[in-house]
Amino acid sequence: MLFDTHAHLNAIQYNEDLQEVIDRALNEGVSHIVVVGFDRPTIARAIELAEQYDFIYAAVGWHPVDAVDMTDDDLQMIEELAAHPKVVALGEMGLDYYWDKSPKEIQHDVFRRQIALAKKVKLPIIIHNREATADILQILKEENAAEVGGIMHCFSGSVEVAKQCIDMNFFISLGGPVTFKNAKKPKEVAAQIPLEHLLIETDCPYLTPHPFRGKRNEPSYVKYVAEAIAEIKGISFEEVAKATTENAKKLFGIYR
Ligand SMILES: [Zn+2]
Repeated sequence: MLFDTHAHLNAIQYNEDLQEVIDRALNEGVSHIVVVGFDRPTIARAIELAEQYDFIYAAVGWHPVDAVDMTDDDLQMIEELAAHPKVVALGEMGLDYYWDKSPKEIQHDVFRRQIALAKKVKLPIIIHNREATADILQILKEENAAEVGGIMHCFSGSVEVAKQCIDMNFFISLGGPVTFKNAKKPKEVAAQIPLEHLLIETDCPYLTPHPFRGKRNEPSYVKYVAEAIAEIKGISFEEVAKATTENAKKLFGIYR
C-alpha cells in the first residue's frame, strides 16, 4: 500500500490518458491518492475525481501565487466543500515568494483566513512554501495552526525547520527531490526525521523522481520516493510504505 498525499490529477496534463495513469497507480500498489485543488477549476475537478474514484480523496484551498484572485465567494465555496465526505484537508495554501503575482500582504491575509477556516471546519491543512520559511512558521504559530495540524508539502528545508514543523503538529512530506543525487537537504531529513512524522507524495505532474526526472510525473512513481527513503534509512520498502500510509490515513481520518 502506498499513499500519494499530494497529486494534481486535476491538471490538464492528464486530459488525454487519465484512466491509464490511474490504472498504473493501482498496479503499482497505490491505495490512496489525495488530489489537491488550488483555484476554481482545479477544485471543481478534484471533487469530480474524488466522487468518481473510491481511492481518490480531495483537498481544497487557494494557492498563494493566485492570492490576489481569491474572493469572499471563493472562501465560502471552500467552506461549503469542506463538508463533502471525500474532502480530507484544506489546501494547498501558504506563501510563495518566488513568483511575484500576489503581494506578500495579500498572501498573508489569504493564508491566515484559510487557517482560520480549517480550525472552524476541523480539517488539517496542506502547506505550500516557496522561499518563505520564516513567515510560514510565524503565521502558523500566530494562528495556532497546531490545533488542526497538517502537512508541509514537498518539504525542502533543513532538519531544524522540519523539527519546528513537527512541534506544531505537522507531518513532513517528501517527494521526488529525495531521489535526486544532488538533493542534500531532503536526504538529511529522510535520514534524521523518524518515520512516524513522514509522508510521501508525487506533486505530479511536477517534480518527477529519478529515474524519470524531466518527464511528466504520476502517482505510480511515488514508489521511487518510498524506495529512496527506505534506502537512506536502511529499512525495508514495505516498512516505509506501511508507516507513511498509516500516518496519512490517521491525519486525514480515512478508515479504509
Ligand atoms: Zn501542489
